[in-house]
Amino acid sequence: MLRFAPSPTGDMHVANLRVAIFNYIVAKQKNEDLLIRIEDTDKEKNVEGKDKSILEILSLFSIEHSSVIYQSENLKYHQRIVMQLLTKKEAFSCFCSDEKLEELKVEAKENSKPDVYDGFCATLSEETVFNCNAPFTVRLKSPKENISFKDGLKGDLEYKASEIDAFNILKHGKTPTYDYACAVDDMLYDISMVIRDEDYLDNTVKQIHLRNIIGYDKKIDYVHLAGVLNASTGKKISQKDKETSINYLIQEGFLPSAIANYLVLLGNKTPKEIFTLEEAIEWFDITKVSTNQTTFDINELKLINIKHLELMDDLRLSKILGFADADIGKLAKVYLEESSTINELKTRIKVIFEEKTSLEGFQNELKTLKECLENAPYYEDFNDLQKYITKETSLEGKFLDEPLRYVLTKADNGPDLSKIYPLIKNYLGDIIK
Ligand code: GLU
Repeated sequence: MLRFAPSPTGDMHVANLRVAIFNYIVAKQKNEDLLIRIEDTDKEKNVEGKDKSILEILSLFSIEHSSVIYQSENLKYHQRIVMQLLTKKEAFSCFCSDEKLEELKVEAKENSKPDVYDGFCATLSEETVFNCNAPFTVRLKSPKENISFKDGLKGDLEYKASEIDAFNILKHGKTPTYDYACAVDDMLYDISMVIRDEDYLDNTVKQIHLRNIIGYDKKIDYVHLAGVLNASTGKKISQKDKETSINYLIQEGFLPSAIANYLVLLGNKTPKEIFTLEEAIEWFDITKVSTNQTTFDINELKLINIKHLELMDDLRLSKILGFADADIGKLAKVYLEESSTINELKTRIKVIFEEKTSLEGFQNELKTLKECLENAPYYEDFNDLQKYITKETSLEGKFLDEPLRYVLTKADNGPDLSKIYPLIKNYLGDIIK
């Protein structure tokens, strides 16, 4: 089983979704289930409603999963295993104050040493621990031997035992830390492969160490993905960036299929540029994803979105735009010359149906043209309509072109009217007003 393990602490962004998509594709390829684990143990950081929003996004992107669990529901297992570790003396209670821990951090930095706990509380006698009333955390003893593992992208990695922290597994308040809860749950749910951001490499080492201590010998494969940068900040994508939030992109009118396509393209050599996730399952290779950071650029996403809009069924597109006529879908596709999202298309098409009352410099021509069109017979072909207008009004050149474009589209430039007219000719009554 694979898992996607979001924290409900903020809006899901493109890098989070990329991890979810990769987990989904690989689970399908391996014919294994995908578990969604909401990592909600840090009550202070949780933001109400974000779990629902994440789950809605996953279903919007058709990321099928076998179940959803909330990590906090496993608290009793997390606590029970801590007690076993304490009994076996693999873990110890730590009474060190935040101030002391901060001092250790500063000292390590000054001496360019790894920031690891100095082990003081591991040396306390049972009696001292028993009699101590101070608040405590529980730490796992650091390993005696180096820890090595093979990452699916980064190859063989080895971490020195002396640099692996005696990390906290239980916080004040007896709730589990991220590293600990994550490692326990990966065992509980029989996870076979973990795909996540490379920021978690150091956590992986701690999580392997915990599993070793517990004696869990099933191998978990790891793939740590290089980070995704935001083209507009040049920095790693964060939950604070607005334009990389999935909800923002959807509200702006990007199609889920285009967003998913773009996220698989990022840092990847694909056999084609435009594809569905189902197609990607056929050829995607997680071990070939770039080990270099990639950059999310909304302008590149716009180009992919245009291609997905072009491929969409005309009637479906028209319905999304609030009509029920394939011609309006076709009209929207003509406007993809100058628009790239559903919202831009909606605005563009809405304008066509608005009143056209004044056109600077062509006020008389506009009036004449409107009267002429109101009485004009029905023409299939735009050239025939133009000929008729010229005959009836003697308007020509820019005195015909500019007011005619305005009256038909309420714009002063845009796609060829001969492409637009066939798609709006049945609506002239609503358009010419
Ligand atoms: N909860 C972490 C996150 O939201 C994921 C950690 C993991 O995949 O193990 O980024």
